[in-house]
Amino acid sequence: MSQLQEKIKALAKDQSADIIAHRRHLHSNPELSFEEYKTAKYVAAELTAIGLQPEEGVAGTGVVAIIEGRNPGKRVVGLRADMDALPIFEANDVPYKSTVPGVMHACGHDVHTSSLLGTARILNQLKEEFEGTIKLVFQPAEEKAPGGASLMIKEGVLENPKPASMVGQHVAPNIPVGKIGFREGMYMASTDELYLTVKGKGGHAAAPHQLVDPVLMASHIIVALQQIISRNRNPANPAVLSFGRFIADGVTNVIPNEVTIQGTWRCMDEEWRADGLKRMKKMAEGIAEAMGGSCEFEIVHGYPFLKNHPELTRRVRSSATDYMGAENVIDLDLWMAGEDFAFYSQVVDSCFYRLGTRNEERGIISGVHTPTFDIDESALEISTGLMSWLAISELGHAGYSA
Ligand SMILES: [Zn+2]
Ligand SMILES: [Zn+2]
Repeated sequence: MSQLQEKIKALAKDQSADIIAHRRHLHSNPELSFEEYKTAKYVAAELTAIGLQPEEGVAGTGVVAIIEGRNPGKRVVGLRADMDALPIFEANDVPYKSTVPGVMHACGHDVHTSSLLGTARILNQLKEEFEGTIKLVFQPAEEKAPGGASLMIKEGVLENPKPASMVGQHVAPNIPVGKIGFREGMYMASTDELYLTVKGKGGHAAAPHQLVDPVLMASHIIVALQQIISRNRNPANPAVLSFGRFIADGVTNVIPNEVTIQGTWRCMDEEWRADGLKRMKKMAEGIAEAMGGSCEFEIVHGYPFLKNHPELTRRVRSSATDYMGAENVIDLDLWMAGEDFAFYSQVVDSCFYRLGTRNEERGIISGVHTPTFDIDESALEISTGLMSWLAISELGHAGYSA
């Protein structure tokens, strides 16, 4: 183990109680997407306390800070944490339970934020020992469209200085604490919301010849759209089309005037994402029209798909293996959920990895976005040190020419 790595591990250990305290403070005081005012103040105050000069108010509640090592212009690595909580009533009976009814850090963003505060502290203490610049990105609203990441990018977070790479992490309640997971290439899905209104002419169910039945039209549309997945999609290209809402507000003998349908379209290829949407719209409108009605097909675009830059991910993984031991670094499966870190991954080499937070013996097994989600807090000592080591290793990456 290198001397620097030993130093990082010692610093991570020394400050772990403080970082757990940060996490508990944030967990008790969760704020919803785009409303992270107190959280942003807290983050900025801590960054100031360790000697940094945070920039506040980026994309509303985002906070950005810079740590310059020796030769700061050599290379820039961006580290990202999201800060928002979810509209969920916490059901855990813990001393740090949410004090805000109906709001809970159920996706671990309190963990990401406190962890990046710890990493900031370590890197700032070691700034004489590395060359280059670290950009700390605390972003709002991962959970809500259009996503804090997209707004921060619009406000220039990837410029001045421009990161050569972005690194982010997410808690993983399915991975035991002490392990982390990586995946090269496509990892998480793009997410688009679909809102269909199928219109016909309702009336007495006993006289279908006098009506234009939107229930039958909508049923055909639902079935036909799945064929885009089975017939038009390249089978090597993962995609999901799911409809979770189908409202035909008639009764046994009354056919309604219209049917509303809502669904989600997810894939891992931006071209196919757009092409699939175009096909769906055409097919739904065409079916409705052929049956004598009409279909309004509304799309609300969400996040792009998340791609982990292969070479960067290989380098980061190898640094992580060095820090954690090969037995603690695992492969991740594709995951068809969305994540707004994807916006960074579309414009700059990016790596998003998973931090194990599960502890079966202690019953810490609940999934993210559930009222009983929690973590094994020993993950924080690992994550603060690990991200520091990954950042310094990436700054020192030999293949880079300034
Ligand atoms: Zn989430
Ligand atoms: Zn999340």
